[in-house]
Amino acid sequence: MRKAKATTRFLLAALAATSAGAALAATTVVTADRMLDVLAGKMVDRPAVVVVDGRIQAVLTQGDAAIPRDATRIDLPGETLLPGLIDMHVHLAADARIDGNRVLDYTDSFWVAVGVANAKAMLEAGFTTVRNVGSADYADVGLKQAVEGGYIPGPRIVPATYALGATGGHCDGTEGLPPSFAPVPTPSVADGPEGYRSLVRKVHKYGAEVIKICATGGVLSRTDVAGAQQMSYEEIKAVVDEAHRLGLKVAAHAHGLSGINDCLRAGVDTIEHASLADEESFRLAKAHGAWFSMDIYDDDYILAEGPKNGMFEESLAKERAIGLKQRQTFRAAYNAGVKMIFGTDNGAVFPAGQNALQFAKMVEWGMPPLEAIRAATRNAAQALAREGDVGAIAVGRYGDFVAVRGDPLQDIRQLEHPAAVIKGGQRVK
Ligand SMILES: [Zn+2]
Repeated sequence: MRKAKATTRFLLAALAATSAGAALAATTVVTADRMLDVLAGKMVDRPAVVVVDGRIQAVLTQGDAAIPRDATRIDLPGETLLPGLIDMHVHLAADARIDGNRVLDYTDSFWVAVGVANAKAMLEAGFTTVRNVGSADYADVGLKQAVEGGYIPGPRIVPATYALGATGGHCDGTEGLPPSFAPVPTPSVADGPEGYRSLVRKVHKYGAEVIKICATGGVLSRTDVAGAQQMSYEEIKAVVDEAHRLGLKVAAHAHGLSGINDCLRAGVDTIEHASLADEESFRLAKAHGAWFSMDIYDDDYILAEGPKNGMFEESLAKERAIGLKQRQTFRAAYNAGVKMIFGTDNGAVFPAGQNALQFAKMVEWGMPPLEAIRAATRNAAQALAREGDVGAIAVGRYGDFVAVRGDPLQDIRQLEHPAAVIKGGQRVK
């Protein structure tokens, strides 16, 4: 053990020496016609952003004498530079086009291969960071390691590993199957506070950087009611206490009112979906500093494509009952002052890489374009507690950018077709 640590220290020292010596070679200057400063909430003309070894070293104006002359250049004339986008609710190892019993046609490792393709699609769509809130077999940890190791292109991944939940609940994973087809308990299922404490410790041990729970029923699961609470207050509280002790945030899938409010009272950090939240939920969210992550684009895709993809009729009926209500709740929550982050359920609910379709829906339902962009940048970074790394074009953060033609504050749909994507100072699209 001691020997391994000494070797690691030596390697780190060697790496530091190499990167210091090669600092000039790793310098990139990114220019565009305009830049959106999401922190100040204003457009800046003719930016020149200096990225050294993957992180932003200076935010200058073109023509500034301090711009390094021998740097690699990425010039984006006619375009607007924004921070790389963050989707707080994706499922990399899933495909919305394979639904219902059709998932049984594929072996388990197939979904990791799907994750490889989806990681590339989301990155090229401008999403340089994603929070993966649920995947079997620790697939998101493997994908993260493969991206960081340079094996595959993909966004920065914040993995939750398994979504944790109750026996027979939304995240059970074997719901709808007869007992003889699911003889082994799903690794993510627990009942009782102590069971959840142990699950939190286990997924943390194997790489979870955020804890995801399923506090209520869901739309796409078969044997539950979307609004019904599935975890008790005591169970949710045990998860939150254990996760926070480990320095992890908690994201809770919650459609129904009592589940949402118990999550907020227990200190959950982000409420996913939040479909049936009410004024009391808004009050609790503001009092506890919780964020809402509302996937309000999905309804369009599910109702248009669900039947073709093999989605169960029960799920379609649940979506018809809840989709419009969720959008109305989104508008009411935003107007009430609830803090919002951008989360789509991309991958699982609509095809990977179409994440940005949700921006126009957020604007349609009452959010100004700047706030919709902040939900996917500044706010998301705050909710991840990674403001030193992502979420703004600011000194010290990663050189992650998306560039669009025209002004996204005038036409939010420009974000659906990024002209360039840059991650860590390297152009990936
Ligand atoms: Zn989800």
